[in-house]
Amino acid sequence: MKRVAINQETEQKLFFHNYARFPVAVTHGEGVWLISDDGTRYLDMIAGIGVNALGYGDKRLVDAISSQAAKLIHASNLFMMEPQFELADKLLALSGLSKVFFANSGTEAIEAAIKIARKWAGLSGDQEKKEVLSLSNCFHGRTYGAMSLTAKPKYVDGFEPLLAGTGMIAFNDILDLEAKVSEKTAAVFIEVVQGEGGIHRISQPFIDRLKALREQYNFLIVADEIQAGCGRTGTFFSYTQVDADPDLVCLAKPLGGGLPLSAVIGSEKVADVLTYGNHGTTFGGNPVACAAGIAMIKAIEEDNLIEHAREIGTFLNNELQKLAAKHPQILEIRQYGLMVGITVDKEAKPYVGKALQKHVVINATSVNVIRLLPPLVISREEAQHCITVLDEIFTEEAAAEQAC
Ligand SMILES: *Cc1c(COP(=O)(O)O)cnc(C)c1O
Repeated sequence: MKRVAINQETEQKLFFHNYARFPVAVTHGEGVWLISDDGTRYLDMIAGIGVNALGYGDKRLVDAISSQAAKLIHASNLFMMEPQFELADKLLALSGLSKVFFANSGTEAIEAAIKIARKWAGLSGDQEKKEVLSLSNCFHGRTYGAMSLTAKPKYVDGFEPLLAGTGMIAFNDILDLEAKVSEKTAAVFIEVVQGEGGIHRISQPFIDRLKALREQYNFLIVADEIQAGCGRTGTFFSYTQVDADPDLVCLAKPLGGGLPLSAVIGSEKVADVLTYGNHGTTFGGNPVACAAGIAMIKAIEEDNLIEHAREIGTFLNNELQKLAAKHPQILEIRQYGLMVGITVDKEAKPYVGKALQKHVVINATSVNVIRLLPPLVISREEAQHCITVLDEIFTEEAAAEQAC
């Protein structure tokens, strides 16, 4: 086979133009460092967009994947498989909830949650109780149901018509919440910390009112923990920090230790909604992905990575506050464990390119927010390196502006 050149020109020829990729081809990783084909080492402060919780090359994870791959890569849900059982048991123990469904991606978990919520609501006898609501500035995924909940122009323009019976509540706006939910509401989807939305946490009064309205109207609260879950925000699930008491929880990104895996976890209330043949997916709960998930959660527990995420998160926050005092370009820091948003006074994207030139991978979201989602294993020294580089970038920018 003829070798293809791994460069941006070939990229344009081969692929649909939906990804704005960095001009870097990565070949492997070590810990928190990504290494490119020319040997350059990049400090990875985004971790495959919140996926690589253990960084790169964790031996326990690699061993779990290779030994399961040697035994059985796939058999389908026609069979019972130990890794699925073990991971489901673990997720139920961690959440205190009652049933698990495995899928392959975040958006698929959201689709399953929408289906469970609608079917559950219909079982009440009211066939019009099908409305599924989400919060402004949210992100739930790219397939039709999830995209319809993520009704921002950037994600939906040109793809209409969207799923009927969806709607949006203004984030943290209790009056709007009261105006939007009703007897027709089947579910309200929330991210306790909005990721793509720029690292914003839901307020306690909003959650308290949401729970009270659930009592009144009998709908489900669905916690999208796809980005914030598995320890990233300093607790295994972010919803426990605001006592959201969800009926359904969606997990994905880090769940499969880097392999595609997602889960919907449901309470007693929805335990019997799905019936045989009702819902499913060929690859869901793939044994290799589940074995990786088990190894990932074990490593989090063995290495106290949740506590570590809190510590390094606090360190990053303190250091970033110092940068904010020094650099007027920084408007605000929001930090929940190792989920960090830095609001700047302009578009954030140019900072991503500048950081990449200094071999640090960061990410921009929500126009003017720099987002950091480093692997949970990041050391204080590595976190300090990121701070040093950001400091340099803001300093150089100010100097360049003065020179003009
Ligand atoms: C990434 C993400 C999704 C979608 O997950 P995919 O695996 O990309 O489909 C959904 N919700 C949140 C909060 C996310 O961060």
